[in-house]
Amino acid sequence: MTKEFTPDPVLNAEVDRKFKETEYEPLGKPVYIKKETALDAMAGDGGYKLGTLSGSIRMQMHRQGKRFWAGDNISEYVDEEQKEVLIDEATKAFESVLDALLIDRENDPNSKGTARRLAKMYFNEIMAGRYDPAPDATAFPNDSQDRYEGMLVVRSELRSMCSHHHQPVTGVAYIGIIAAEKLIGLSKYTRIAQWCARRGTLQEELCNDIAREIEKATGAKDIGVYIQAVHGCCENRGIMAHSSLTQTTVLKGAFKNDAGTKKEFMDNIKLQQEFAPR
Ligand SMILES: [Zn+2]
Repeated sequence: MTKEFTPDPVLNAEVDRKFKETEYEPLGKPVYIKKETALDAMAGDGGYKLGTLSGSIRMQMHRQGKRFWAGDNISEYVDEEQKEVLIDEATKAFESVLDALLIDRENDPNSKGTARRLAKMYFNEIMAGRYDPAPDATAFPNDSQDRYEGMLVVRSELRSMCSHHHQPVTGVAYIGIIAAEKLIGLSKYTRIAQWCARRGTLQEELCNDIAREIEKATGAKDIGVYIQAVHGCCENRGIMAHSSLTQTTVLKGAFKNDAGTKKEFMDNIKLQQEFAPR
């Protein structure tokens, strides 16, 4: 039986050279991928395809121990210019998917630009929260004598996507905080919630993510986040349940430990729902 010869990446100079100078030209615009040292080469490429920007970025995150799950923000690894190259790479990949699905993207006028539309939609819309940095939420001081000490409840409309089937998740988050030493603009709560939602998520994780990011932006320790959403996953496929609703709650600080605060939060949610039924 013959065994295929695989050259050692460190000992074999030819392979080593390929690791060092990988060039990729998507639009006649060369993109030089980070030079690899012999040590990097020894670490292996983790099975990622060389010669693509996405392969290079994945390799970099892999080596640095950066998690890049569907719900993770990876904005520090992707700038605006790189995003355009990644959209080109995703377009090619979606073209292959359409080909595998036996859809005539040459002659079907509705399928002609679909691969690029999908690629742009993923990066710029339905998964934008993975590639965009956190929204700028300027904090205003709330430390004077007549500072606001009450509860604040903001209702934020959400659009997300389940990471299992890439089906839409549509719903509302109610974000409650007891004002701390600083306050952020009211629209910022929704911007933060939407930034967390525009990724591939699980509702349970999304609830946690929003609570954590609101805590970071406001410094408040007393936080409650309640989400109710309908899932395309349950409506369009599988059990095809049209009126199913999923509710998740994350409570921190007084929202968790003080029954009065928790009740006030839940009562506020009911008042909001009477004002605008969801
Ligand atoms: Zn799903």
